[in-house]
Amino acid sequence: MTHNTMQAVVVEQAGGPEALRVRDLSVPEPGAREVLVRAEATGVNFIETYQRSGVYPVSFPFTPGAEGCGEVVAVGSEVTEVSVGQRVATAEAARTYAQFFTVEAARALPVPAGMSAHTAAALPLQGLTAHYLVRSTFELAPHHTAVVTAASGGVGGLAVQLMKRIGATVIALTSTPEKAETARELGADHVLPYEDFAERVRELTGGAGADVVYDSVGRATFDESLRATRVRGTTVLFGGASGQVPLFDLQRLNGAGSLYVTRPSLAHYVRDARERSWRWTELTDAVAAGDLTVRVGGTYPLDDAAAAHRDLESRSTQGKLLLVQ
Ligand code: NDP
Repeated sequence: MTHNTMQAVVVEQAGGPEALRVRDLSVPEPGAREVLVRAEATGVNFIETYQRSGVYPVSFPFTPGAEGCGEVVAVGSEVTEVSVGQRVATAEAARTYAQFFTVEAARALPVPAGMSAHTAAALPLQGLTAHYLVRSTFELAPHHTAVVTAASGGVGGLAVQLMKRIGATVIALTSTPEKAETARELGADHVLPYEDFAERVRELTGGAGADVVYDSVGRATFDESLRATRVRGTTVLFGGASGQVPLFDLQRLNGAGSLYVTRPSLAHYVRDARERSWRWTELTDAVAAGDLTVRVGGTYPLDDAAAAHRDLESRSTQGKLLLVQ
């Protein structure tokens, strides 16, 4: 590698995990309002599997990645809020499966002194997501009962902890006894397998159903999530790990109990500096106070990004997967 080149993952065309290949690319130049970051660690997120496989449209060749942390090594001419030498993290960059990436200075999050690279790279995307889900999409309060899918996973595991911090009752869904044990350790009040979970949720809530169901599994669970939601409750569909939910007839909400259904996206919950900073500060404060554990379930070198995707899609992981430099 010369001074101006770097290793980056490139996907030439949609395909399986093997489509992720390392190439030598030019180190990007930061734009006027951007900073250039030398990556210490890169967060792997489920969305990159949707993009790689063609479920979400992207233009190829494509370098995946929205999340990462590292040291700022150059800043654009109009950047005033971030300086060279500072450590930053982000959930809102592009092409972070690389040794260097650029990000708008406004979307660079300060890494608190003493926070490890693993935590700083693992927290932004899944943490901000878990935060907006439980604080904003549905404003959870201590009297609420919430159901969350994939409760030992990245977003799910953080959401369980944030919900317990609020004092809500948490019903966690997981697919194996090991994952169930993790969900319990994270504080879930009840842990259920996915089979017929609506009926079990109704039993646990005196027949009423949950105030809110957070469903990231999608196709395989969505109908059951609606059935587990109480009259006038909220079903939040925030992912499609088992596949996307097919076209939906809104009339069904009438019969199901005048339910609210939403399909949120992180971009709409970090709309300005103030909102981004509020969420990030609450998350990093919770980590510093020992109230939020960021679990890393696997680390992979950049040139083995394929293994990270394979593991994430195999449904065998718990916590966050990282590419480390
Ligand atoms: P996870 O660590 O949660 O891994 C995915 C988990 O989904 C698995 O571990 C598994 O848990 C569960 N799952 C259920 N069915 C399948 C399947 N067929 N194949 C693979 N996994 C399955 O990943 P992330 O935390 O990165 O993401 C979780 C979800 O949140 C994803 O759907 C993602 O798209 C979504 N997301 C949405 C965002 C938004 O703003 N809308 C932002 C970030 C993430 P188990 O075995 O316990 O079921």
